[in-house]
Amino acid sequence: MPMYEFGCPNCGGVTTELCKMGEIGEQLMCSKCGHTGLTKHISGFASLGISGGAGSGGCSSGCSGNCTGCQ
Ligand SMILES: [Zn+2]
Repeated sequence: MPMYEFGCPNCGGVTTELCKMGEIGEQLMCSKCGHTGLTKHISGFASLGISGGAGSGGCSSGCSGNCTGCQ
């Protein structure tokens, strides 16, 4: 399940949530100030899934391991 980070436009706090695909965070509340309408940021884990498709193993640098040598 992809993990997303949501930035709060009110206080600048970041809320991390596991979300179903397609959810955009409009229903989420900031964990710090309770503001709604958070802005989604793609986490590191999720961005690997976009380029590689599988979400684990492989990365944008083309390695087939766990990226210990390519970052
Ligand atoms: Zn906030």
